[in-house]
Amino acid sequence: MFSLAAVFVISCARTGDRETKRETMNTSDKSDANDAGSIHRRAIAVDMHADTAQRMVDENADITERLSDGHLDAVRAKEGGLDAQFFSIWVEPQLFGGGGAGAMKRADIQIEAVRALAEKHPETWQLATTATDIRKAAEAGKLAALMGLEGGYAIDEQVGNVERYYKLGVRYMSPAWSVSTSWAGSSGDEIGKTRGLNELGKQVVREMNRLGMMVDVSHVSDKTFWDIVNASTKPVIATHSGCRAIANVPRNLTDDMIVALAKTGGVVNVIFYPEHIEPGWSEKKKQVDAQISSLVQRASEEERGDVAHKKLARDRVRTIEYAKRLPPVTVSRIVDHIDHIVKLVGIDHVGIGSDFDGVQAVPADLKSVADLPNLTKELLRRGYSSADIEKILGGNMLRVMDEVIR
Ligand SMILES: [Zn+2]
Repeated sequence: MFSLAAVFVISCARTGDRETKRETMNTSDKSDANDAGSIHRRAIAVDMHADTAQRMVDENADITERLSDGHLDAVRAKEGGLDAQFFSIWVEPQLFGGGGAGAMKRADIQIEAVRALAEKHPETWQLATTATDIRKAAEAGKLAALMGLEGGYAIDEQVGNVERYYKLGVRYMSPAWSVSTSWAGSSGDEIGKTRGLNELGKQVVREMNRLGMMVDVSHVSDKTFWDIVNASTKPVIATHSGCRAIANVPRNLTDDMIVALAKTGGVVNVIFYPEHIEPGWSEKKKQVDAQISSLVQRASEEERGDVAHKKLARDRVRTIEYAKRLPPVTVSRIVDHIDHIVKLVGIDHVGIGSDFDGVQAVPADLKSVADLPNLTKELLRRGYSSADIEKILGGNMLRVMDEVIR
């Protein structure tokens, strides 16, 4: 982090006598080039995690048009200056199975939906698997669509299936979501407290390294985190996590973990979800969940659709009630987490992973992807330089994507 005043002094000193004539123009150029809007437009913004593929499948949402609900579509993404979106291919194990044909089918229909974006709307979307693809899409004014597998359930305990998903375009995978797999512990259940990676889990990580598929530690247990960091020969990432030092929830990373992850060359992408960034919010949410349980239950029972639609009905009630009953959070809190990571490990190991369309609450000034420039404004206000901001918004992840395929 640098103060803006310091940056300006350094720039002026570098300009030297030779360019004194241009000083006035330079000054105005500088102020234009360094306003939040210009910095934001110039940066290649990469969001590492959104759950919008499930909306495309379960709600038939056409995200090429502006949607009146949810957090992400192409129109709002363009307004918000987003360049690349990693779509989470999420298999809810309780609904679709922790493995087997059901889990694989659930992954496949989401992958098909993401691939169809570029097939049906090539003027708006471009399927991407590399940093080069993202840079090209940004240059062409298109949105890059990428994929990550959330929870390793869909590989069905077969190392060979990692390559199957790689070939379909998947470029990261988290070994477990909130439910542990047989080969990797989750931060979300009791088993995860003692489970790390077993031999199969280590083989999976090695296979991901071989293929150039990034290993995502968001959601895994502490023990699994350390096993991954020790097993991986490539940079390790967290696609949507926060700092436990600020918001003490098991889903977040301790300072030691952030330091170890940075040592692999990886990036912590800070989540926007209040539960993982705001101190005490998680405890308050538990109380609210108890208060609204009968409302949620009723909505689920009244919904006539399948299990996915019943979940949507429950989440709609939660969204309304959380907004009424829980304290608002702002982008400033996201930047607290970014600051914390930068102070620990420097500017090269932090990015963004919104978790849009996978959460029932968002910051008041970051209600959808269209509000993404508010994050840049806050980063600038806190003294980050334009080069720093470009790294945070996506530059660091582009570096990692280049590194893992080397
Ligand atoms: Zn998640």
